[in-house]
Amino acid sequence: MPEFCDVAVPVPLDMAFTYRIPPDATPVVGGRVLVPFRQQRMTGIVVELHDRQPSVTAKKVLSVLDAVPVLDEQLLRLGHWIADYYLAPLGEVFRTMLPLSAEFKRSIGYRITEDGQMALHLAGMSGSSARSRRSPEEQAAEFRVLDYVAGREPEPDGPVLVREETLRSATGVSRTLLEGMVRKKWLVREDVSAARDATRTMKVALLKSTEGKLNDNQRKLVDTLAASGGRVPVTTLQSLDVPRTTLATLIRRGLVEILDAPADFTVSRTKARPSLFEFDLNSAQQSALARARESVAARKFSGMLLHGITGSGKTAVYLAAMRSVLEAGRAAILLVPEIGLTPAVAADLHQIFGDEVAILHSALSDRERAEQWHRIKRGDARMVVGTRSAVFAPVADLALIIVDEEHDSSYKQEETPRYHARDIAVIRAKMANAVVVLGSATPSLESYFNAKKNKYALVELPDRVEQRPLPEVEIIDMRQEYQETGHEQVISRKLAVEIKDRLERKEQVMVLLNRRGYSPVVLCRTCGKKLECQNCAIALTHHKREHKMVCHYCGYTAPVPKACVHCGSEYVYFLGTGSEKLEELLHAMFPQARIARLDRDTVRGHEDFERTLNALNEGELDLLVGTQMIAKGHDIHGVTLVGVVGADVALGLPDFRAAERTFQLLTQVAGRAGRGQTPGKVVLQTYFQDHYAVQYAAHHDFIGFYEKELQFRSWMHYPPYSALANVLVRSDKLDDALRWSGTLGRWFDATRHEGVRVLGPAAAPITRLKRDYRYHFVLKSPSRERLNTTLRAMLAHATQQKIPRTQVIVDVDALWLM
Ligand code: ADP
Ligand code: ZN
Ligand code: ZN
Repeated sequence: MPEFCDVAVPVPLDMAFTYRIPPDATPVVGGRVLVPFRQQRMTGIVVELHDRQPSVTAKKVLSVLDAVPVLDEQLLRLGHWIADYYLAPLGEVFRTMLPLSAEFKRSIGYRITEDGQMALHLAGMSGSSARSRRSPEEQAAEFRVLDYVAGREPEPDGPVLVREETLRSATGVSRTLLEGMVRKKWLVREDVSAARDATRTMKVALLKSTEGKLNDNQRKLVDTLAASGGRVPVTTLQSLDVPRTTLATLIRRGLVEILDAPADFTVSRTKARPSLFEFDLNSAQQSALARARESVAARKFSGMLLHGITGSGKTAVYLAAMRSVLEAGRAAILLVPEIGLTPAVAADLHQIFGDEVAILHSALSDRERAEQWHRIKRGDARMVVGTRSAVFAPVADLALIIVDEEHDSSYKQEETPRYHARDIAVIRAKMANAVVVLGSATPSLESYFNAKKNKYALVELPDRVEQRPLPEVEIIDMRQEYQETGHEQVISRKLAVEIKDRLERKEQVMVLLNRRGYSPVVLCRTCGKKLECQNCAIALTHHKREHKMVCHYCGYTAPVPKACVHCGSEYVYFLGTGSEKLEELLHAMFPQARIARLDRDTVRGHEDFERTLNALNEGELDLLVGTQMIAKGHDIHGVTLVGVVGADVALGLPDFRAAERTFQLLTQVAGRAGRGQTPGKVVLQTYFQDHYAVQYAAHHDFIGFYEKELQFRSWMHYPPYSALANVLVRSDKLDDALRWSGTLGRWFDATRHEGVRVLGPAAAPITRLKRDYRYHFVLKSPSRERLNTTLRAMLAHATQQKIPRTQVIVDVDALWLM
């Protein structure tokens, strides 16, 4: 056995650390070891075994966790590639690739005591006590902790255990403060490392039939339970609008029971859909499938961009291709966007692939994710379907990776490592000599450009299935509407008429407004100031039903103001419209219509989402209002009208991807209309009626849009014509943020970076976010290599100047420059 091993530890440092291998241990490259790091113990991945004596004394490996590698040679190589391309610390990359933290992570939880309950009660009555030696901030922080812990759903046998990470991220307090509260006996601390998994979602089961003897809230819970076949995850009940004590009461009365069952998808209540292979693939689908099969059989890398318009039947092609991979005894991965993996989809997948499918969705607990990972690793499940991180699934003999809706921004991870799963899919396919299929009705500029340059084969599904037409799109110029009616309209006269008409014909309508809440701005008419978040330079949004002002970026909430917080004036105005207000407006206009809303406020989990879509599917709803959530992928045949309200706000933002995003959103939402027998129509209200993104979307002219947008990108040296990175410097102290960005700015000026353009430092468009002040640089270069060399040198300089690594964020191929 070699004397030393190099270990990638999950810390923000761009290096591996050398440890001495104890005599009785046999670590393997790609396996995990437990090592001492600073004052802690950490799990890291062994990247090399060697006999080179390090310059400082090496500490000893504490224990070897794996006898065989958890990352095979290919995944290790992929990890190195990601670390290099995204300038991310290798240990953090590996941590992202392996969903196994649950297996060894030490975990601490807290419960509230009776003393704690009492302290909370007293604080609520008398405010802060004058005799206390604690600062008001400290008291407020303690109050937040008690309030949070006390507000959580109690367990049947006492107060709930809240994990330290959850508690600290919810309340923003330090570990020291929590320890102080334990000393005061307000909280008890428990080690839950192996004992239990508090993130495990529990299920609730209905025990008895409960006629008559319930109050309204209890009835609501019981009905929800009954409607879902007697069992639902606790979270579903918690998202209903009833007090948290209701469930506890029902448990006490022995009517329902909490089961410690894994959070699986509830069995979908969707009417059995026609089975996937009941229809014959049409000729375009068949030829796409044949292309994919041939490429797979060739056993070498190739890429395919499947550009299929909305409703052209891409899913059937994906699944048929996967099935033939399975029949050949090989493996495939299907990536879907965050919102795409509904229980209905899961049901379809089980029907087609049986036990051979592993589904990795975001509702899994750490432990369940680890279980799925082991099933895949053992080769028990060779068909993997999942969101972003499923691209790292440990399958052997990978033949095919499919990225559905490849343009979707949920494929980009917005924390370190900031990878894009679509791009990783391509790299992984290359390493595995596999085939990658990127599918979309609105491909990203990057992928379309690659296809044009023959890096990928471009395969089109140019028509909707069964010759259904694309919807007719009518543009309403809202400036003209304003002139003609004399006031700002939310619903134009034309859209109102069209909605009324559909409702009379018993057809269904969707209305998109891509902004949640009631009103997005509260403005003082006296001093002209807006009500902003305490932590961010962002206006707070009024949420009427919750009676709160909410920051959509950090979650901060404040009471609804009666007077201006800046000058005390009573002339505060609530301006603009969000989806909550739109729903209210539509209720007032169409009192008979059954209306529901889909946005992040009404959807807490997959079940809510699924429930609403089912209701629409089964004709229990007439009208669905929502944010971009309603635009994605759904296949509901009764919808014949789509109204688009304020989907073009993005066009006013300082972001070079604004036109692309708007085009994609408009095209996708228009694609929801007319998917059944009756042709659809779209009424598109806009303030930018001449903008090419709006015009091309209205004419379903994909090629036209791409050509125009590519032209623009090429003139401005933006991707795909150059590689781009956003470098963000942040600190909760303004002085540090300014000083550090100045330091880096001077370094950029003083050093030559041939072929790299550096813009900045400039205040980021969102100048303050989650308490951090933010400055940024944008770097562009036709050469990826030069760009990364410059970034690497910049990071080295930052380290030398003692700028903490976590305060300089390098975002390669950034999707947002905000
Ligand atoms: P896309 O993802 O391209 O928008 P879907 O894959 O959701 O489209 O398919 C749209 C609908 O058409 C689905 O209900 C699907 O079952 C159905 N479908 C797919 N292929 C065919 C076909 N060849 N004949 C009839 N219906 C089909
Ligand atoms: Zn004011
Ligand atoms: Zn905020």
